[in-house]
Amino acid sequence: MVRLNEIRQNEVAIELPTTSDAGLIFIGRIRTPWTNRLDCPRQGRADGPICQIEVDPRWLQALDRIDEFARIEVLYWLHESRRDLVQQSPANDGTTRGTFALRSPVRPNPIGTSVAHLISRDGNVLLVRGMDCLDGTPLLDLKPDRTLFTPIAPPQPGDFQTG
Ligand code: SAM
Repeated sequence: MVRLNEIRQNEVAIELPTTSDAGLIFIGRIRTPWTNRLDCPRQGRADGPICQIEVDPRWLQALDRIDEFARIEVLYWLHESRRDLVQQSPANDGTTRGTFALRSPVRPNPIGTSVAHLISRDGNVLLVRGMDCLDGTPLLDLKPDRTLFTPIAPPQPGDFQTG
C-alpha cells in the first residue's frame, strides 16, 4: 500500500537530528512517466517503460564507457519521503516492521536503488528500463551492476569461507 506522508496505526516516528553529517551532490534527474507516488511501481521491472536518466553535463566524462554495461545500478534520492519513521506498517494493517527490514522509501536517508537495463546513451542522457521513481527524482550515482563483476583478488588465508 503506497503511503504519502501519513502515520499509520502502530507506526512509530522519532525526532530527527537537527544537523546532518554529510553533503550530497545531485548529479542529474530521472525522467519517468510517473508524477504521483500512488502510480509508481513498488519496484522497477525489466519490461517497464523506457525512462531517461539525465546526467548534469558537468559529469559527462564520468559516463565514459558506461555503455559497455547492460545493467547499471542507479542510486537516487527519494525526495518526497518523510524520514522519521522507525516502525512502519507497509500494508496499513497494524502489523509493523523496522525501517531497516523494509525497502520502503521512508528512511532516514531516503536513498533508492534500482538495477536498470541500459538501452542506449545519447551524450549525457541514458535510456533505461527498470525504474520505479517519480518524474524529476534527483540522481545520486550510477555504477555498473555488481553482479557483472567477479572478485579480482585470489583468496587469502583467513578469508571467510563459504561452503
Ligand atoms: N527500488 C528502490 C529501492 O528498492 O531502493 C525504491 C523502492 S520504493 C518501495 C518505490 C516507491 O517509492 C514507489 O512506489 C513510490 O511510491 C515511492 N517513490 C518513488 N519516487 C519517490 C520520490 N522521489 N520521493 C518519495 N517517494 C518516491
